[in-house]
Amino acid sequence: MSEHRFATHCIHAGQSPDPTTGAIMTPVYMTSTFVQSSPGVFKDGYDYARSKNPTRTALETNLATLEGARHGMSFSSGLGAMDCVLHILKSGDHVVLSDDVYGGSFRILDKIFRHQGITCTRVDMTDAAAVKAAVTPRTRILWLETPSNPMLKVIDIAAMAAIVTTLPGAGSPGGAFDPANITLHRPILVVDNTFASPYLQNPLALGADVVLHSCTKYIGGHSDVVGGALMTSDDALAQRLRFVQNAAGAVPGPMDCFMLLRSTKTLHVRMQRHCENAMKIAAWLTKHPKVEKVIYPGLESHPQHALAKKQMRAFGGMISVVVKGGLEASKKMLERVHLFSLAESLGGVESLIEHPAIMTHASIPAEARAKLGIVDGFVRLSVGIEDADDLIADLERALG
Ligand SMILES: *Cc1c(COP(=O)(O)O)cnc(C)c1O
Repeated sequence: MSEHRFATHCIHAGQSPDPTTGAIMTPVYMTSTFVQSSPGVFKDGYDYARSKNPTRTALETNLATLEGARHGMSFSSGLGAMDCVLHILKSGDHVVLSDDVYGGSFRILDKIFRHQGITCTRVDMTDAAAVKAAVTPRTRILWLETPSNPMLKVIDIAAMAAIVTTLPGAGSPGGAFDPANITLHRPILVVDNTFASPYLQNPLALGADVVLHSCTKYIGGHSDVVGGALMTSDDALAQRLRFVQNAAGAVPGPMDCFMLLRSTKTLHVRMQRHCENAMKIAAWLTKHPKVEKVIYPGLESHPQHALAKKQMRAFGGMISVVVKGGLEASKKMLERVHLFSLAESLGGVESLIEHPAIMTHASIPAEARAKLGIVDGFVRLSVGIEDADDLIADLERALG
């Protein structure tokens, strides 16, 4: 399959007609266990469904192919996937995190792993010097999202990968897997690729060690599944992560895997339209008198526009806007939209709008939010795949 291009992989990777019936769609294997022919003798590694399920295997192969990875793992949520990666750290380890991340990604480090002795430093990763200053000999993970949420900063993945190679233990191959010591064998770069999706960028090709997706967003694309995924091409890392997943148990159910497999069949088509619509709407917003600022990586005014052009195939479906008039004006806009739905989350076919300071980023401390620029007039749009002119008319009305 690997000789094919992205669109073909979306539809076919990991899937072949069911050998027993010829069913073209991968069956939903609703089973918790598998019959063994003799104690410990079972087919293709299928012994118990927490460890492996055929519908999940098809999804994992599909997702790995889309990211150009040797290994793919799927999870019950994006944060379940993050939890898995953080479990290969040990007390005393340090994480450098980009300052502008999904609220829950900060919360799991700050409220859960901090109590297990794992520390984290947040830093603006558009500034390589600041990242170099933040790393310590105990730094084991550089963790970033690009484009970031909600400032849509674009971070240079290759430059961050270069910093990881300067950390102690970089380049260690990991050796034979030992379940008695599952801790990370070398410092790694983890890229949360949720906002871009594999259609827009493939971080592993730029030097990342692990890619994370909240499949709840663009990969699922229809606002009807919660899921997560990890991809890596490092065999030693994959063994550790698989061990943790099986030991800790954040696995997706087979029906969710089936729905995500159905979703990835249209990922390329959806993403193309998300990007076209967002570009058109971002350009329109820049000319609106009630709009103070438009943040979209596809605009020349975006501080990392040149990097976005180099690193991404297009600019995505997320737009951030600061409306004039602060909280009152932004609230009014959010109450007046009809076609855009006021809701958290993103990446679905339907357009969503939200207020990060009150909604998705409420778990980020207020001073940190202010420092990032998440002001009261700040509104985030997840542009869907409806008719762009209808979306513009809705925003026009809401701003009017
Ligand atoms: C939603 C999101 C997550 C968390 O994923 P869940 O599937 O909600 O657990 C992580 N990172 C980013 C960038 C997200 O948008």
